[in-house]
Amino acid sequence: MDKNAAQFLELADRLGTLVRGNLRGVGGQSGLQPVHLQALIYLAAANRYSNTPQALTDYLGLTKGTVSQSLLLLHARGLIERQVDSVDKRMVRLVLTDAGMQLLHDSPLLPEWTQAVAHIAPQRSKIALAVLRELLLTLQLSAGKRSFGVCNTCQHNLHEGPRSYRCGLTEEKLSLAETRQICREHLPREKRRR
Ligand code: SF4
Repeated sequence: MDKNAAQFLELADRLGTLVRGNLRGVGGQSGLQPVHLQALIYLAAANRYSNTPQALTDYLGLTKGTVSQSLLLLHARGLIERQVDSVDKRMVRLVLTDAGMQLLHDSPLLPEWTQAVAHIAPQRSKIALAVLRELLLTLQLSAGKRSFGVCNTCQHNLHEGPRSYRCGLTEEKLSLAETRQICREHLPREKRRR
């Protein structure tokens, strides 16, 4: 492997180890496994097109069975609710309960992270973020996976006026808050075929 590629991989792996260790520690205090917290974090960030069991399964890259078991536990613990879609009655929407939101609020993930990032000059952070996003997107696209990006970076996001947004895919209006959520249908503006 190319030396640069090997160094990126090693760094990503070591950061991933830190994050997983933190998830285990935080989850352990509430009797939850990392996958349960990852599901709650995803649902807190996902938009109305992405809060389904299938979208969560795609995002986590796990089997349907594993995700179903996790959702059963989160539901039994009162951390999520299952709501039948108002239009398509066959579809189930997953929503965090107040208890689920409170648990995330009370369980700061990697509290040292904010402090560590604060030591990096804004311009260097910007470059680092752009490089990591490009790397992630390239790997996702080459694996045929969805980007699950933030709505305001999507090709379909139409800015129609001051604080007025619309999804060009569904033709539905989007609030400013929704443009900051992640989406299963996200199509990156910088999408490139390789
Ligand atoms: S604009 Fe893109 S990211 Fe936003 S809701 Fe539509 S498809 Fe999803």
